[in-house]
Amino acid sequence: MSTAVHSAQELRELVWQWRQDFPLLQRTVYGKPIVYLDNAATTQKPTAVVAALQHYYTECTSNVHRGVYYLSEQATQLYEEARRTVQRFLGAAEAAEIVFVRGTTEAINLVAHCLGRTRIRPGSEILLTHMEHHSNIVPWQLVAEQTGARLRVLPITPDGELMLEAYPELLTERTAVVAVVHVSNSLGTINPVAELIQTAHERGIPVLVDGAQAVAHMPVDVQQLDCDFYAFSGHKIYGPTGIGVLYAKRRWLEEFPPYQGGGDMIRHVTFERTLYNDVPYKFEAGTPNIAGAIGLKAALEYVQQCGLERIAAHEHELLRYATERLQELPGVRLIGTAQRKAAIISFVIEGVHPHDVGTVLDREGIAIRVGHHCTQPVMEFFGVPATSRVSFGLYNTLEEVDRLVEALWKVIRLFGVGGNG
Ligand code: PLP
Repeated sequence: MSTAVHSAQELRELVWQWRQDFPLLQRTVYGKPIVYLDNAATTQKPTAVVAALQHYYTECTSNVHRGVYYLSEQATQLYEEARRTVQRFLGAAEAAEIVFVRGTTEAINLVAHCLGRTRIRPGSEILLTHMEHHSNIVPWQLVAEQTGARLRVLPITPDGELMLEAYPELLTERTAVVAVVHVSNSLGTINPVAELIQTAHERGIPVLVDGAQAVAHMPVDVQQLDCDFYAFSGHKIYGPTGIGVLYAKRRWLEEFPPYQGGGDMIRHVTFERTLYNDVPYKFEAGTPNIAGAIGLKAALEYVQQCGLERIAAHEHELLRYATERLQELPGVRLIGTAQRKAAIISFVIEGVHPHDVGTVLDREGIAIRVGHHCTQPVMEFFGVPATSRVSFGLYNTLEEVDRLVEALWKVIRLFGVGGNG
């Protein structure tokens, strides 16, 4: 199937076809068809992913890399094919640069831990941005505590964009690493990561990109970006939970010590000394999430079949329409109005706690996320304890945006916002 971007009408028809692939979207809650708008938290799974999991469990359950028998060889082949699928999906130079982990969180912890043991020293600086998810803050804080390094933070603007003019001065000879989110999960901002990487590299500083909110919404090519590390989670790209990816340039994986010890990551063990396995196996101690990797392969193939350009075009239209409609509502303030945004909208309604918004919407069959979205520094910057967040996936429709707006009118009337009692 061609992945050329279609006309708006063709895209809408395609989306109705895609929806058929997601059984959960057929269900009702409180007697109403579900409107699932919490895709930044996790995505629904297409039948192709469920079928891939079922196939592994019913036809090939066995461990990988160990057995000499048929089933184990088959499972190993599926698992390694999944690695090659991720490699192609991210445009990595070789499959050995793909490490399977539990998710974005574990990928970042792995890099932070290993850099902490190799490059980060007392007085080193770790440069983050003000819009990082807690999982791209806390692992670095832990490493800073252990090594005597300190965190530095690139500020953001009231629109929720990075303050790029402050970036070059924050890169010093002490900077050991830059860790930056590709797409902010609470603001929707798409950051200019290629430029950030280039500037850091001119000073010999490695860059980690947190791609948790990017890969399901836009094409990503790690060689083009030239990032040193790229992390994402399977469950946010229509794949299973408990599986994720760390892409790392081979030189880093060769340089790093193992993150965890155990089976499969070794070549030879004695009580005196252990010889480690080759990359990437050196970083995959113990039995991996075999089914998860196989399910992730199915998810990436599904997304590629839909076409990331088409998904991006459709989600952009959802973002445009929803932003316009939400701005018509009394008392609604958008949090995050960057020029370049992915399909995530955070907002607050004057005088109404986001939890009340979420609860009223829930009774209408609409699932959104309310809270701090694991980005408390962002909430602090905007002076709010929490926001309501709508995040779109490939299967959302303009009609669902209309249902959201209708339900928000209920909230507005119920709480008498702007005199609309
Ligand atoms: N980074 C960002 C930007 C996220 O949105 C998330 C999850 O919401 C994470 C990291 C952590 O992902 P996971 O919980 O799958 O490890």
